[in-house]
Amino acid sequence: MKTAVVTGGSGFIGSHLCQVLLEEGSKVIAVDSLVTGSRANISGLLGNENFSFIEHDITVPLEIDSGVDRVYNLASPASPIDFPRIPLEILAVNSLGTKNMLELALEKKARLLEASTSEVYGQPLEHPQREAYFGNVNTIGERSCYDEGKRFAEALVSAYARAKKSDVRVARIFNTYGPRMRKNDGRVVPNFIMQALQNKPITVYGNGKQTRSFCFVSDLVSGLMKLMESNYTKPVNLGNPSETTVLELAEKVKEIAGSSSRIAFKELPEDDPTRRKPDISVALRELNWKPKVKLDSGLEKTIEWFKAGN
Ligand code: UDP
Repeated sequence: MKTAVVTGGSGFIGSHLCQVLLEEGSKVIAVDSLVTGSRANISGLLGNENFSFIEHDITVPLEIDSGVDRVYNLASPASPIDFPRIPLEILAVNSLGTKNMLELALEKKARLLEASTSEVYGQPLEHPQREAYFGNVNTIGERSCYDEGKRFAEALVSAYARAKKSDVRVARIFNTYGPRMRKNDGRVVPNFIMQALQNKPITVYGNGKQTRSFCFVSDLVSGLMKLMESNYTKPVNLGNPSETTVLELAEKVKEIAGSSSRIAFKELPEDDPTRRKPDISVALRELNWKPKVKLDSGLEKTIEWFKAGN
């Protein structure tokens, strides 16, 4: 039986990952500072004898008594509303936190998967984004704590792989959505769903022509696990290449939720990327992975979850 440490284990993606790892026969140790994660996300797992939870901020070194085979390093706030709120914490968790998890993985002879992001591409001048694209990031803007934090994390795991022979994998995660996103998360899917369910104005930033490509969380989790168990050590884009404008998303959410909300256009945040879509040919070739869940069906599931008042 393998033991996996999942940092950010009570967060949105982390809690789903813990659940699937348990279902597939691993022992799971979830680690979370609860800055953006919540106990509610893992309440269904706490009774499982193969699951344990440690409340811990990974910017402080972590000691674990048992053996560890896999470290999924997912701990980091990831919503744009968190960037101006806790920028120093975001930089710290991605730098010091990642270093501490690399050290833990070395000590345990474990493999580490770093959860990076499509934000490393910044305001992309290449479309769709391939892993070979170096990106176009504003190093001093409001988003830079996250973008540069993740770029530093990628540099750090790469340096550990070279200098210390660390066994690492790097996932560049594109927009992901699904149950367990925070109601007040600030990202577009939970915002639109909450607004639609309350028949409040749906807040489209800018003219709504900017695009994103939304991946349902179950698809993302399967991609993370396949990457972890593959022999491919370079960064891999994980996301759904089906691209939609933010305005189309607003209309879709409104329709599926049966809402009478109107659309309200608001100011576009600083450095908001105008287009984003992953090229997933590496994931397809190396992991035999591609997303299965269509946007409509993923939104239905997510809306149901929010409706149930979770
Ligand atoms: N957005 C929006 N209304 C909202 C929240 C977000 O129009 O209430 C837009 C945002 O400007 C961006 C896109 O939706 O263009 C995705 O934003 P999100 O915060 O979900 O993630 P990002 O991809 O920007 O990190």
